[in-house]
Formats: sequence, structure tokens, C-alpha cells
Amino acid sequence: MKCPHCQGTIGFFSKTMNSFGKKKRCPHCNKKIKVKPNWKILFLILPLVFVFHLFVFKPAVILAGFSGSGITGVSGAIAVLLSLRIYSDENEESLHNKKSLSTAEKRGDKL
Ligand SMILES: [Zn+2]
Repeated sequence: MKCPHCQGTIGFFSKTMNSFGKKKRCPHCNKKIKVKPNWKILFLILPLVFVFHLFVFKPAVILAGFSGSGITGVSGAIAVLLSLRIYSDENEESLHNKKSLSTAEKRGDKL
């Protein structure tokens, strides 16, 4: 996964990602980040995970001697985990200021 600020790679099992509940910061640029599922990606991978669940995961669990029930939640959790992306958690106001500045710059160019 990549930082939205500096494009630095943040490992999924790194300290940063496993500090749940705490404010996360990029280990490269130290800017605030937040992790949440990307619903578009989740929507795309859910059928794939479902097929994987039915034909690979569930038979494997049954072969291993387990009942196979109660693992549907595990597959669902895997789908959510796969869809997780890092978003910026910097102050919204500073983003707005940057936007208005760039539009002002463009206006200046035209004049
Ligand atoms: Zn960064």
C-alpha cells in the first residue's frame, strides 16, 4: 500500500498499519493517514473471494477436518482486508486552502 502524500510504500503488517485505534502517520513523511475499505474495490473482489471461498477455501477447511461452517465470515474479512486503502487524514482546511490557491494562480495566469 502506498502513502497518498509521498507515494512511500507502507507494509500491511508494519507497525504503522497495526496501530489500530491510534492516529496513523506515514513512516516516510510523517503525515496523517487513515485506512478504510475502498467500496469499489470491495465490490469487484467480493465475487472473486466468494468463488475462492466455495471452491478452494471451504473444501480445504473440510479436508483439514473442520466442519466448514463459520468460515464465511473469514472470507468476508479477507475481502474487506484486500480492499483496504490508505487515505489522507490531513486537515481538510489545508486541502481547501491549497485548492483555492491553485485556482487563484490559474486566474493570475489568464490575466
Ligand atoms: Zn508519506
